[in-house]
Amino acid sequence: MTTRKLASTDREFTIGKIVCLARNYAAHARELGNETPAAPVLFMKPASSVIADGEVVRIPSYSQECHYEVELAVLIGKECRGVSAENAMEYVAGYGVAIDMTLRDVQNQLKAKGLPWEIAKGFDTSCPLSDFVPTDLIADPHALNLKLAVNGESRQDGWSSDMIHRVPQIVAHISAIFTLEPGDVILTGTPAGVGQVRAGDVMTAEIATIGSLTIPVV
Ligand code: ZN
Repeated sequence: MTTRKLASTDREFTIGKIVCLARNYAAHARELGNETPAAPVLFMKPASSVIADGEVVRIPSYSQECHYEVELAVLIGKECRGVSAENAMEYVAGYGVAIDMTLRDVQNQLKAKGLPWEIAKGFDTSCPLSDFVPTDLIADPHALNLKLAVNGESRQDGWSSDMIHRVPQIVAHISAIFTLEPGDVILTGTPAGVGQVRAGDVMTAEIATIGSLTIPVV
């Protein structure tokens, strides 16, 4: 069981399913040669993929190309089914920092065959995840600076203002398909600059006013 705290409250959440958006930043979709989708492209990671600040990403032996993707994480605070975008923020408890670790070589092979990507996205240690900051302490989730560095060198430096689908629309869209429960997390996509890490590297991810992660790779 993996739990995360909600800062400046006494609330703690058991992490449930993690619903992720692909291609939610146009510049990142372009760098991978993908179309920008009209509707959010969704996939999931299991709760067992989550690790905490300071824990280690272990690259599975079936991949030679493990990528980082820094993302704004959205924590669901109460059960949410078929909610409208207008009411969606009532169900959001807070924001955190995540890294969506991705086995790009495995994902590309599976995509080429028309097969699901789970083993490229949901493996053990594939979801470094911070604690959360309550929504009422974040004036605008679409004005946040997302940064990721590898061994101290900047690799990603983007803004959540560049998200194609915004948080209320994302929650509404997902809740029409999957009931969202307290402790579920949404990863909202990554800005441009994704790239490879290798054993021995150390990633640092940061969203100012939200939190940071320092994650070694083995
Ligand atoms: Zn991602």
